[in-house]
Parts: sequence; C-alpha cells; structure tokens
Amino acid sequence: MNASLDSTIDWARVRADFPLLARKVHGKPLIYFDSANTGQKPEPVIAAVDDFYRHHNANVSRAVHALGTEATDAYEGARNKLARFVNVRGDELVLCSGTTFALNLVAYSWALPRLQPGDAIVLTRMEHHANIVPWQLVAQRTGATIKVAELDERGELDLDRLYALLTPDVKLLSLTHVSNVLGTVNPVREICREARKRGIVSVVDGSQAAPHRALDIASIGCDFYAFTGHKMSGPTGTGALWARREHLAAMPPFIGGGEMIKEVRFEGTVFNDPPHKFEAGTPNIAGFIGLGAAVDYLSALGMHNIEAREQALLAHATEELSKVEGVRIFGEAREKAAVISFLVEGAHAHDLATLLDLEGVAIRSGHHCAHPLMHHFGVAATCRASLAFYNTHDEVEAFVAALRKVRKLLA
Ligand code: PMP
Repeated sequence: MNASLDSTIDWARVRADFPLLARKVHGKPLIYFDSANTGQKPEPVIAAVDDFYRHHNANVSRAVHALGTEATDAYEGARNKLARFVNVRGDELVLCSGTTFALNLVAYSWALPRLQPGDAIVLTRMEHHANIVPWQLVAQRTGATIKVAELDERGELDLDRLYALLTPDVKLLSLTHVSNVLGTVNPVREICREARKRGIVSVVDGSQAAPHRALDIASIGCDFYAFTGHKMSGPTGTGALWARREHLAAMPPFIGGGEMIKEVRFEGTVFNDPPHKFEAGTPNIAGFIGLGAAVDYLSALGMHNIEAREQALLAHATEELSKVEGVRIFGEAREKAAVISFLVEGAHAHDLATLLDLEGVAIRSGHHCAHPLMHHFGVAATCRASLAFYNTHDEVEAFVAALRKVRKLLA
C-alpha cells in the first residue's frame, strides 16, 4: 500500500460526523477499536435511513403509486452507486444481507449442483467461518473434499504451496481478500489469475477489503466477490455478491418467492433476470439506501485517503503496542490492513478486553470466527484492535496507556 495522505482533509471534522463516537462508556470517552467487527455510521447514513422511513417508505418493484416508485428508484439507485463504487455493472450485483449470505449463495447455487466425488475445493488457513462452513456443507452433500493453503510465519499465504494445491481435481478456490484477524492483504489478483489459468473458479471474500481500500473488482479477475455493508459505514443486513454474468445466468435461484419471478403457474415458474432472480422477498430497502449514502460518504473522502489515514494509524499503533512488555502481535504481513491481533503474556484475552472496556476501550477478544487460524497459532483466543479512519492518534496513545494499566492489574 503506498497511498499518500491528502493533507487538506480535516480528520477531526470527519470524526465529528459519527455521533456515536462522542459518547462515553463507563464514564470514559469511548475509544472504538472494533471496526473490523462492524463500522460506526456517519450522520448522512443515519439521515438517509431516517428520511426513507419518514418520507418515502413503501415496498419496491410492486406498487405503481408514487411512494412505490420513489422507494424503487432509491433502492435501484443504491445498487448502481454500490456497483460504481466497486467498478462493476449494477445488473451483475446481487444485493443480499451480507457476506455470509453471498458466500452461501455461491455454495448452494453454483457449487452444489456442480461438484462431485473426486472434486476438491481450496480454502486458506486464514478464512472466516463464513468462508469455511458453507463449503463444508457442500462438500458433505457432494462428496467433494477441502484442501487448505497454509501460511508462513508472517501470516502471509505461502503462494508456492497454494499453487501446488491447484491440481486438476480442484474446481473452486475461495479466499479472503484481507484477513479479519491478521490484517494480511492477499494478492488476490495474482492468485485468481493462477486459478483461472487452471480452469478453477475463484471466490473472494471482500468483507475486510471493501471498507478500507479502493476496490476494482472487475480488475481482480475473480468469478465471485462478496462483501458486507455494515463494515463500510452502512447499515447492518446489507451486502452484495458480484458474479460474472455467465455464472448468474447459469445458476439456479437460491431461495424462491416474490420479486424473483416473471410468471408463476402451478405447472412451472419463469424466473426473473439476474440479479433479481436471486433476490426473493422484500429486501432491506432502508438499509441499502443507507448503504448508498455510505458509499457517497466514503467516495467523497476518497478511498485512497482513507487507506493512507488508516495506514498511519496502524503504523503508530503497532509501534506503541510493540513497546508494551509481554505483548505478542499475531500477523506481520508486508501488506496489512489496520487490524492488530495480540496477546499479553500471562493475561487471558477476555480479561484484557473486559478491563479495557472499563477504560472506555472497545476491542474484540475471542476466536474472531477463525478457529482454524487460532489452532495454527496454538491459542484459543486473541485480542483484536481494529482501526478505522475516524480513529485518532490520541486514541492510539490512550489505548496503549490503558493496556499498560490493565496489564499491571492482571500481572
Ligand atoms: N468474512 C470476513 C473476513 C469477515 O470479517 C466477516 C465479518 N466478521 C464475514 C466474512 C461475515 O460477514 P457478515 O457477518 O457481515 O455476513
């Protein structure tokens, strides 16, 4: 990452856009270092959701009345904003509740009808459970097997070993763009190119990439790309799956119902065109309108500026944290997002997080939905501080001071 910071951006004013960040927790100013879990929401996103329910609330694609048209236009407008944000076409973007749904859609609609005994799926050691369990369910039902690409000591994928796994039995490779535990940024463009050369379909979990870097999905060369709205300053229950058009045309629907049909007769149903074919039922209309506002907000700041800001915070936090006695940091990839997993010698992760909470610092502790990665490091849990552009260097200092304090209490 070599983005450089636009010095004209007033980050204190940006932070002031996030009302929740002004609150106190246990009488202390909140330091929110859990953005990899979910991001905080700026005023324009909250206002867009509020405005929809106050002035435009109606269902989409059904009613001809004014409100129905307004709701549909706003919802489809949000799809197009999101598509532009990640450089794909709106009609290739299936809107859904988030990455978990998106990956399950690929598993059930693409993989389940195609895989057979003798076929293999390749995953990596650093996957979130959302990118493991759907494939296990498909493997159980099809007789396919799962192979795992391992990591080196820095927490980067061992690419030679990964490519050696891509043998002719492999039909699908699914990997994360950015690790939610280690922060490792994977070279997905290169990896997907290698997969494609071998006729292997590639799926990328972009949950931790979309909020932090300019995304150009079209240039990655993958077959599917999944991401989630609530980590990118949007409402919960929003996300998307991008897929190549030939896949969307060939895949059967995942769930059936209203909106996804052209005609229903008891003798048979004609499905709607993609992406609507995969969007049965009333969607999270207000949520996507909020996500559209989030995309506008992030675009106005500029993803390159966001990335540079977060890189500066990451460098600062890593340096300060490394000076604390007994701290072990997990993941030292050369290209890393602003996520720091760590443990302090002699202290349990949950105890650290609980005591830090009393100091107003919100970090996550646990397995981070990545059991296989915890096994790799031989630990049950880690603490994870994950930063976003709305955090400050003062918060980094205050977090490390709080950690020094609670470390003494636990020693
Ligand atoms: N993959 C990764 C890498 C994640 O960090 C997360 C969220 N923690 C998910 C998948 C699942 O996303 P969601 O819960 O929004 O479906």
